[in-house]
Amino acid sequence: MDAPLRGTPPRGILPRMTTLLLSHLDVARFLPVPDCIDVMADALRSVAEGKAQLPLRTVLRLEGTPNAFGTMPAIVGEGSQAAIGAKVITVFPGNEATPFDSHIGVVLLFDAAHGTLLAIADASSITAIRTAAVSGLATRLLANDDASELALLGAGVLALPHLQAVCAVRPIRKVRVWSRSGARAEAFAERARRHSSAEIVVSSTAREAVAGADVVCTITGARTPILEGAWLAPGTHVNAVGASLPVARELDASAVARARMFVDRRESTLKESGDFLFARDEGAIDDSHIRGELGDVLLKRVAGRKERGDITLFKSLGLAVEDVAALRHIYTQALAAGAGTAVSLGGLRSE
Ligand code: NDP
Repeated sequence: MDAPLRGTPPRGILPRMTTLLLSHLDVARFLPVPDCIDVMADALRSVAEGKAQLPLRTVLRLEGTPNAFGTMPAIVGEGSQAAIGAKVITVFPGNEATPFDSHIGVVLLFDAAHGTLLAIADASSITAIRTAAVSGLATRLLANDDASELALLGAGVLALPHLQAVCAVRPIRKVRVWSRSGARAEAFAERARRHSSAEIVVSSTAREAVAGADVVCTITGARTPILEGAWLAPGTHVNAVGASLPVARELDASAVARARMFVDRRESTLKESGDFLFARDEGAIDDSHIRGELGDVLLKRVAGRKERGDITLFKSLGLAVEDVAALRHIYTQALAAGAGTAVSLGGLRSE
């Protein structure tokens, strides 16, 4: 995590002030989901130790649309070892019926010695991989060890990396996937079978997908509940990922109230999580319902699962430190491999 941001210049052509452009293909090559789980553990440990700076994200809404523009800056680590960066991204749920991803933008990485811009990378792929990896980390920390059945509610961009992340940490043998349209779930299942040895079936309702599942991932653009607490069997672990605005929720109040709840960051949850805020406003929980952050569990400051029959819940909102730490990892690997496209953008006094 704290390796200095230096390395061999790619292909030996770099002048002193060079930025590496990294495409979605570079991201996929240098940030496989299983590797990213450990990168995310280091990043979230830094947050819990107070070795990261991250304000709440800034979201500008495009009036009359569900679409938004967000900026997420962060500094991870300390002193000359720190990684400085930001994600700059459009979030367009309105892209649903188009070929375009709902999250498009870049992640930037600067060095802490002179503030030089080290890398610019595709944000769509980093977002999908790091989000799934954090769910994988939560599953590793909170699910029962023998969890073997996975329910995916939602079949979009996040579905395949979530399958990979959960399969990387638990012996998943059966996967049930549900999506609103059905057609997308069928297409996902066909694709996923090429990536996984687990049995993958499509469920016609969310309830059917959840029945018997040890791990449930909610990864939809829903704004009203698609997962009810009454459906959850004792021992289930839930990763609630899709709703990242105060006005949107995927879980009903009972699903939140029945669970031991963990979050990526407490402050963000209290301000930004509709899953949490609606349940609180309905009187089902209060602020003390948040047992801790994943970093607290990693540092063993709080216990994760206590009993086999506990229902555990990880509420994911997504943090800038995750993006910056992910790009730091990709950049280091890409530099060593001579990958990416080097450009000179300026930034030297002589230019
Ligand atoms: P996609 O647009 O690729 O897929 C969205 C999925 O949600 C599809 O399966 C779609 O159904 C389903 N869906 C959309 N609207 C509804 C609805 N009203 N009710 C039920 N299902 C619905 O999105 P992604 O996979 O990229 O992202 C999924 C969610 O995760 C988004 O809300 C996104 O903002 C959020 N997200 C959260 C992150 C985090 O860090 N916590 C990071 C990145 C994304 P259908 O199959 O019918 O099209």
